[in-house]
Amino acid sequence: MRAMVLDRIKNLAADTRPLKLVEMPIPAPADGEALIRVSTCGVCRTELDEIEGRTPPSQFPMTLGHQVVGYVERLGPKTSLHQIGDRVGVGWIFDSCGHCSYCQTGMQNLCAEFQATGRDAPGGYAEYMTVPERSAYPIPEALSDAEAAPLLCAGAVRYRSLRLSMLEEGQALGLTGFGASAHLVLKTVRHLYKNVRICVFSRSPSEQEFANELGADWAGDFSDPPAEPLNRIIDTTPVWKPVVEALRNLAPGGRLVINAIRKESTDKEYLLNLDYPTHLWLEKEIKSVANVTQHDISEFIKVAASVPIKPDYQIYELEEANRALLELKRGQIRGAKVLQIL
Ligand SMILES: [Zn+2]
Ligand SMILES: [Zn+2]
Repeated sequence: MRAMVLDRIKNLAADTRPLKLVEMPIPAPADGEALIRVSTCGVCRTELDEIEGRTPPSQFPMTLGHQVVGYVERLGPKTSLHQIGDRVGVGWIFDSCGHCSYCQTGMQNLCAEFQATGRDAPGGYAEYMTVPERSAYPIPEALSDAEAAPLLCAGAVRYRSLRLSMLEEGQALGLTGFGASAHLVLKTVRHLYKNVRICVFSRSPSEQEFANELGADWAGDFSDPPAEPLNRIIDTTPVWKPVVEALRNLAPGGRLVINAIRKESTDKEYLLNLDYPTHLWLEKEIKSVANVTQHDISEFIKVAASVPIKPDYQIYELEEANRALLELKRGQIRGAKVLQIL
């Protein structure tokens, strides 16, 4: 089979073709695993982090790709969840230990042995991949292969943020940052709740306008005072100012969920504006979001199909993965980038 593999950490500024096309044997599914014939695989920013070593693969060469849609081709021993020919999706969570206290309570995302698809095990930049059957989820008919793939990462993580925010009917929700996939949260909230007011914070006037078009109740800049104190806020920015401003805007007992793998240090001094009575007093909470669980992905893909949430996408051949990655790196983004493999 053909696969696009990374054989070592690379600097994308110097090496514009980081992945190599190789021929390799089709893998055999082990106990509890399914062999998947890959149809589409989304291209994610996390792949840039893997290539440039911020989230390095645990072994080389590694086949990247963690937003995979495909068809069950073969089943290993001790499987029971899928049938040959089923259409399934695979996201960032590949496997976890299965027996620690986190795994036992549905928080596999926090397991010390968390394994990521396309980083710790070969992913979907290939014609076939194997995966533990519980990490493959049925894809509802309402979504095409190319529409479903981009939802399996960002969409599912956003959905986890929303769950962790513990938003309740009748509350006011803030969203700080409204780029790329944050609007998925707004659409999802509008679908799941009848009476939640949504305030969107963004530096960009065009993003504010976009938020209004999608039905936000209020949109403004990070330091603009919102229409009302907010019970829940989800932050998807890479910097600190929105965090400090969000804490100020939280209502008593409010919760701020930070959905970012890392924060940049460019504006770290803004944290010195933290004033205990203004930003933290009255039981305000902060929670970060790490990875995803199987439950997040399988549930979100059903919600997405029922809304429906259908991302705009741009198709590339498997061999064009390097071009897709480079365009992502350079910010040439017109919808999600999807490799069409089958
Ligand atoms: Zn575990
Ligand atoms: Zn991703």
